[in-house]
Formats: sequence, C-alpha cells, structure tokens
Amino acid sequence: MHGDPSAMSEIPSIRDCYDVVVIGGGPAGTTFARLLERRGHAVLVVEKSRHPRFCVGESLLPATLPVWRELGLDERFEKAGFLRKYGAYFCFEDGAQPEYFHFADGSRVRDPHAWEVPRSTFDRLLWDAAVEAGIPCIDRTTVREVVFEGRRATGVELRLPDESRRRVRARLVADCSGRATLLGHQLGIREPDPKLDKIALYCHYDDVIRSSGDDAGTIAIIATPFGWMWLIPFAGGGASVGALMHRAWYRERKQAGADKDAIWAEALEDTPAVSRRLVGATRARPLEATSDFQYRTERLAGDGWVAIGDAGAFVDPVFSSGIHLAVTGAHAASLAADVSLAGGRLPRARDFARYTRRTRAVLNVYSKFIYAWYDDDFRAVFMRPPHGKRGVEWLKREIISVLAGEVSPTWRVLPAMKILLGMAHLRRVGRGLSAR
Ligand SMILES: Cc1cc2nc3c(=O)[nH]c(=O)nc-3n(C[C@H](O)[C@H](O)[C@H](O)COP(=O)(O)OP(=O)(O)OC[C@H]3O[C@@H](n4cnc5c(N)ncnc54)[C@H](O)[C@@H]3O)c2cc1C
Repeated sequence: MHGDPSAMSEIPSIRDCYDVVVIGGGPAGTTFARLLERRGHAVLVVEKSRHPRFCVGESLLPATLPVWRELGLDERFEKAGFLRKYGAYFCFEDGAQPEYFHFADGSRVRDPHAWEVPRSTFDRLLWDAAVEAGIPCIDRTTVREVVFEGRRATGVELRLPDESRRRVRARLVADCSGRATLLGHQLGIREPDPKLDKIALYCHYDDVIRSSGDDAGTIAIIATPFGWMWLIPFAGGGASVGALMHRAWYRERKQAGADKDAIWAEALEDTPAVSRRLVGATRARPLEATSDFQYRTERLAGDGWVAIGDAGAFVDPVFSSGIHLAVTGAHAASLAADVSLAGGRLPRARDFARYTRRTRAVLNVYSKFIYAWYDDDFRAVFMRPPHGKRGVEWLKREIISVLAGEVSPTWRVLPAMKILLGMAHLRRVGRGLSAR
C-alpha cells in the first residue's frame, strides 16, 4: 500500500451505486452536483486533487450570476471579499487610450458586475458549499476510467488515496474533469483546433498598481504583436498576469536558447501597459505554462454520460468565458439529466440533445469572435468602436453584452458580429489602398 492511509479516515464512505457520479470538483462538477442533489438525486463527486489548489482562470462574467444566485452562492462571494468586476478595458501594448467597456452600459446585461477571484479560494468555496449541502465529495481520488457496458457508461473505476481501486456504478457519469478531458481521451473524440496554436505563460503578483474607484476590479486585456496579455486584479492588491503567445513567436525564442522566464521578461518589456502596473510588485508564484488551446469533443453526451465545461470544449480565454460556459453548461445539462433520472429512465444521448445544441451554438459564437480577435483589423475596430452616432453606440453595447457573457440566444449577437467583421474588412481594404 502506498499513499497516506490516515487520510482515508476523512473520506466519506462510498456506496456501490449512485444516480450520478461527477468526475472533477471544479466549477462545472460542483455546480452540476448541487443542482441535481437539490432535485433529489444521489450524487457522488470525485476530485483527484485537494482544495485549495492553484488554477488559472480568475475573471468571472455577470451572465453567470443567475446560477450562482439559484445556489445561494452570490452572498458567499460577497462575504469572501472577492473584488467586484464592473467591466473590462482593452488597449494596445503602449497602454495609450484604453477603451472601457462597463457592463452597466451593455445590451441585455442583467447584472452590472461579476467578481475577480483567486481560484484556489473560489474553487474551495464551491467545494465546501457542495460538502455542506450533504453531497459526498471525495478528494485525492482519481477516476481512472469510465466503465462501459456496450455503448452505455455504467460507472467509474476509482483510484483511492491509499492506491486501492474501487468500482462505483452510476445511472449517469458526468465528465467535469476540465482540460484533462477524461472521456474525450478515453473515447478518442477530442479534437484540437489547429487554427489556435498558442502558449500561455502566467503567474500571480502582489502589490500591483490598480485603477481607482469602481475600475479597481476591471480586467485589462492588452493586444500585443505576440498575442495578448491580461491583468486581473484581486482584492488585497494582488493580480493574475498572463500572456497568450503565438506558438511561432514563442518557439523562435526557445530555439534561440531563451527559457520561459526570459520569454516572460521579454513579453513584459514589450508591453508597458502591463509592466508599468508591476512597478514595485513582487511575483507571488512561479511562472506557469499551458498550451493546447481550443479543442472540442466530437460529442458532448452519450448513453449514460455527459461532458460539461472544459471536459467538453475549451475556447481561448480572451473573453473570460470558461467558468461561465462551465457553470451555465452544468445548469443546462442538469435540467436534461433531471428529466430522465426523475422519470426512472437511464439517461440516453438524445436526452441531452438540447444541451448539446445550446452549448455548440454558444461555442460557435465565441469561436467566431476569437478567430477574429487574432486579426489586427478586427482588433482595431473591436477595441475602438467609433463613438457618437446612435448606431455606433448600439455596437458598443453589443460588444459589452458579449464581454458580459450574454451570448444566448446567439442570433441576437450575430448582427453585431457581422457588422464588426464588415468594418474590419473595410479597414483592411482602406489600408491596402493607402499602401499603394
Ligand atoms: C490561460 C488561461 C486563462 C483563463 N482565464 C479565464 C478567465 O479569466 N475566466 C474564466 O472564466 N475562465 C478562464 N479560463 C478557463 C477556466 O480556467 C476553465 O474554463 C474553468 O476552470 C473550467 O471549469 P471546469 O470545472 O470545467 O474545469 P476545472 O476547473 O479544470 O476543474 C476540473 C477538475 O477535475 C479534476 N480532475 C481532472 N481529472 C480528474 C480525474 N481523472 N479524476 C478526478 N478528478 C479529476 C481536476 O483536478 C479539477 O479540479 C482560463 C484558462 C486558461 C488556460
């Protein structure tokens, strides 16, 4: 026997069978578990690490608030003292003329704020709320694989903290394993998006210079020649700072012998909009690196299983959409799961058809914006929507609704998208003419 046997005493006893086994205790998993537990289903959550644990992805969106409220979490967020986020500002690397987008000015935006959250505290809060709700949540336990009988998922095989193995049956297995995409790999249905070959470097800093007043919690998105950078302020003066780099740019430096710290230093030096805010700041964590941006699983559900959040798809984080997609996806999937579980049926792939359609539609909208974001002409019009005229004010309001996460129903967002693409095209043509 390996591992820490004393740790076993803290682990809730595990039954042989549940209505639902949830793989992963991040935002998708804890939300899905709580929503189904409230509808009377027996749920088990399995998490391989132990909260609090580091995770990137700290900027939330207002459009997720209705789900947080349904779960009584908004009050906990206030009590936890997370910094309120009232919007985003975008600028180029020199930091000149930042364009502010405040949620309160957006079309269809129901709540004017979200939060900026250190994920270790935030995810722990979500986990504790699930435990307090009486859900058996076991950590330091890895789901090794999903067990199938024919085409139907019927349970999971666990590796417990003492390294022993255990099988648990379930009517539904929810893959909320995040970027590990357990089922995506197991079924060979994970499809990377070759159009977005990027690398992210990021870390936390203490004592970062922040904006004043309500903009203290405003996320900064900085467009740079190598990609883009973010600065997400936290309560207490710290911040998450990161850079998303084109792989070719990163590789060139690697091949010239630079390590990731040297590449990070170069990115900061080239981006005064960020480095100016780090004067006097100290690095609070080692630099982390992530690659493999943007993938989908070919299917989001099958007989006896559903994939939610990053386990089903991941899009480039420029619109801070990850947690929103994970949590609203968990909400939509829980409605479908509840219908089949409450009806005494074993959940089938087609029970999740609506969830799949909705999720795909939202992902398609984000993907369109994200592809466009890496085009210089699109960036220019997106970041500087002309001011003054009525129609143009409408355009900015629409951009704000995307930044707030209000992209469903998707047909409401597409007209603005088309106009922005048209404006970017005209700009490109104009530049071409003036270069002649
Ligand atoms: C560089 C970068 C920047 C980002 N910025 C933002 C942002 O500003 N805002 C935002 O909303 N999102 C952001 N994201 C995305 C965000 O981090 C994710 O979308 C979000 O964490 C998804 O939640 P989840 O519950 O699906 O997955 P996760 O939060 O990853 O949770 C999955 C959990 O499953 C566990 N797990 C994995 N495999 C197993 C297993 N086999 N058995 C048991 N447990 C398992 C993991 O330990 C983990 O706790 C960013 C992502 C990246 C890479």
